[in-house]
Amino acid sequence: MSNLLNKTNEIAQEYLATMNHENIQVSDENRQRLSGLDFDLQNQQVNAEDVIKRLNGLVSPATMKMTSSKFFGFVIGGCYPVSIASNWLTTVWDQNSGLEKTTPATAAVEKISARWMLDILGLPKQSATAFVTGATVANFTALAAARNLVFKNAGWDVESDGLIGAPDLHIIISEESHPTVYKSLAMLGLGRNRVTKVKTDEQGAISMEHFPEIQDNTIIITQAGNINSGACDPISEICDLAAKKNTWVHVDGAFGLWAKASKKHQHLLNGYEKADSWATDAHKWLNVPYDSGLAFVKHEHALKAAMAITASYLPTENAGRNPSDYTPELSRKARGMDIYAVLHHLGKSGVEELVDRCCDCAQQFAKGFSEAGYEVMNDVVLNQVVINFGSEQANLAIMDAVQKEGTCWVGQTHWRGITAMRISVSNWQTDSQDVDQSLAVILSVAHDYLVK
Ligand SMILES: *Cc1c(COP(=O)(O)O)cnc(C)c1O
Repeated sequence: MSNLLNKTNEIAQEYLATMNHENIQVSDENRQRLSGLDFDLQNQQVNAEDVIKRLNGLVSPATMKMTSSKFFGFVIGGCYPVSIASNWLTTVWDQNSGLEKTTPATAAVEKISARWMLDILGLPKQSATAFVTGATVANFTALAAARNLVFKNAGWDVESDGLIGAPDLHIIISEESHPTVYKSLAMLGLGRNRVTKVKTDEQGAISMEHFPEIQDNTIIITQAGNINSGACDPISEICDLAAKKNTWVHVDGAFGLWAKASKKHQHLLNGYEKADSWATDAHKWLNVPYDSGLAFVKHEHALKAAMAITASYLPTENAGRNPSDYTPELSRKARGMDIYAVLHHLGKSGVEELVDRCCDCAQQFAKGFSEAGYEVMNDVVLNQVVINFGSEQANLAIMDAVQKEGTCWVGQTHWRGITAMRISVSNWQTDSQDVDQSLAVILSVAHDYLVK
């Protein structure tokens, strides 16, 4: 056992030490070598160290270096070392963290992490918190609570009686909502298409001018942090409009909610605490390992009713906090552990520094591209930058060449009618030197392509 874990520790450290300097993209050769993993399962046992050696030999070279300080694809962050360490320990402890009575330690850590998170994100103290796998499931979980309460207020018990024959329910959603929100609606039986989409302004935030009249029995889904521009919906105004009716306002803030941790950026989220629920990711901007997302719900009863395991279950106010009362799963890893580790490590000022540094790096990118004469398509209010080199064809060719070159990795998006380059800064290691080095590569690739 000890040899195996020491060896694995060595492998892990070597990976982390070299990862920032390697080609980020997976080479075709290493991709092809993955076929070495695929054979008919043998009959006899294989030594554990050999298994790890084989996995490392073939998998490691074929990993996209997503935790690199120059990985700017999607919005996915990396892993703080403290969270890798806490994650290892959590695995070793192997606590089935569904029930407080059997796993008091991990239940306690999650309760504290939840309180810290609510504090950092400026959310109402009484909100219930669910530790889930990611923002997709966080949206699902919060919207299940929404479904509970809106129906309950309309005289319908949706958990017992289902959706067939239920009163009418309306969904208002931004036309720029993340595709996974539609997936949540589909999983909840609310339908991808039974929605009223609201037009957005040119930054991708909901335009109040086009906001429909709100009827009773409505769930409104807003966004903090557009995946292209980083723009936030006018959540405060929407909450005010919705206040007089039987409604629920949900905020998908997978990464954007973290703006609240920064004095410089929290103005983007003014009044968002008036909403009923919020979803965010820890595995993105907080830089903890997968799988880690959070749903916060102002109405604890609604969340517990939606997540209850048995129909006879009645939430009791003062019982201990059973983690499984809040999440879709019963058995699961103690996800709150890594969140605790990073928050305790960074402190409030460390989280703020992380958010501000990433946003500063995004500004630096934007400035670099503008000064070189290229169009930055969005107002850079947060950590997202969308660049247009003049045509879709140029954008695709330049992205491809940048990815092949391997110093940094940039993503592609389709926004405002064009396929463009998207840069997201959300890694804990990224600093202005990374931006300079990446800008130099991207601008030189663009120059080669456009001048040729
Ligand atoms: C990433 C993202 C999601 C989905 O989150 P996962 O953690 O991948 O499930 C949802 N909404 C927004 C705005 C996102 O950026």
